[in-house]
Amino acid sequence: MSSKVYYLNDRAGSMMDSIPFKGVKVLKDAGLAGMIKPGDRVAIKTHMGEWGNALNLRPHWVSAVADEVKRLGGKPAIVETCVAAYGESVSRISREDHLRVAAAHGFTEETMGCPIIICDGDYGTEDVKVEVPNGVYLKYAYLAKKLLDFDVVIVVSHFKGHAMGVFGGAMKNVGIGMASARGKYAIHNITHPEIGIKTWQINQDAVKKHAQAPSPNLIERMVDNCPCEAFAYDGETLTRDSEKCRQCGFCFAYLFQGVYNFPPELVPSWPAGITDAACGFIHAIGKEKMIFLNYAMDITPGCDCGNFHDKALTPNLGVFASRDPVAVDMACIEAAEAVTAVPGSAASEYGFGEPNTERFTNCSSMAKLSQWAQLNAAVYNGMGDTEYVLVNSVTEFTEAFNFPPYTMAEPYTHVHKEIYKEINMDPGDYAYGKLPRLAMEEQSKKPKGKLKEISIAEDK
Ligand code: SF4
Repeated sequence: MSSKVYYLNDRAGSMMDSIPFKGVKVLKDAGLAGMIKPGDRVAIKTHMGEWGNALNLRPHWVSAVADEVKRLGGKPAIVETCVAAYGESVSRISREDHLRVAAAHGFTEETMGCPIIICDGDYGTEDVKVEVPNGVYLKYAYLAKKLLDFDVVIVVSHFKGHAMGVFGGAMKNVGIGMASARGKYAIHNITHPEIGIKTWQINQDAVKKHAQAPSPNLIERMVDNCPCEAFAYDGETLTRDSEKCRQCGFCFAYLFQGVYNFPPELVPSWPAGITDAACGFIHAIGKEKMIFLNYAMDITPGCDCGNFHDKALTPNLGVFASRDPVAVDMACIEAAEAVTAVPGSAASEYGFGEPNTERFTNCSSMAKLSQWAQLNAAVYNGMGDTEYVLVNSVTEFTEAFNFPPYTMAEPYTHVHKEIYKEINMDPGDYAYGKLPRLAMEEQSKKPKGKLKEISIAEDK
């Protein structure tokens, strides 16, 4: 059975074509109004971006959805979870810090017009164990507890690449984004009894190299930052006492600096694990309560959990909404595959600029896993369908999109109208004449530009 995906592109010619209003429109077409009863508590699950990343979803793309929930009589709340403490530059480990980063990115109760709730407690520990029906890899997953408190859940996701999931969309926003800290670690196999972090061998050659760097070098930081004092360095060799290690995950990111030799079995399960967790969470919350909106904009190779972002792989595509998280992600990835890559992007640079070149497989995945893996796993575990009907939505003007309380009947509002009666708009003798003194022909010539290009070293 196929699912329907409602779509609008990112072209615009008037206010009703604005991206946040298009997001609202495709949600309406996908059936949002029929899901919300007056007084319902409505969660809007989104990702407010890691510190340093600037291409997470814009705050007003999310607040537009909260406004629509209020118009339908619901009580919205923006919901998120703590990030797993996987490295020294991670900013959203605690509820308190997560809210500080969110505020820096423009997400506050004031800008959203509703509460922002971190659903797994102060440190990502408040969760419930849920079964994954027919998982490809996972038997259980750990869901942030407060997510079970809502009548309706709207999943608002940024579609882009992802180092571990290969791409990130609705399924990743649920599978990882709704998991508690231990849930996130389990999906990434950091706490797996046979291949998890406790079993990883230390690469002493990499230790020697890093130990030569100025203090505080990476090895010194590794020793100092372990909360369980599990590491010891004698000036030659770094050792770890596995008995002391509580698998907090903090030293996971040192893997990327070559300090660990990790087992090859660690990575192939990542996409399926994300999808399995999403399946378990949707099963626990109730699929009938959920709807999915993907903003396929700023389609970067990496995810919003990174503290940087590369140039987008593809041009902006638009907005997609569905009741099926699998179909909405499939529609986005097919749309991304159908276009030529952005010039100068990683896709163009590495030879995946032409359409249908699996550019997420080749530019996003840190282990060159397939961009189809999440989707095939989702069909296997029964979460949804990759076959879909793409419905080209039509934008509509609604007075509700006006900045409140402005209306068509009272465009300035009463107060402004009274003031405008008195305002003096006379600018005096402000111009040289009726036409510019530089003729349009002269204004239209390309001016002189770059003389030469030099390095910073040459810039004396
Ligand atoms: S407790 Fe274990 S996982 Fe956490 S930093 Fe120490 S060695 Fe690494």
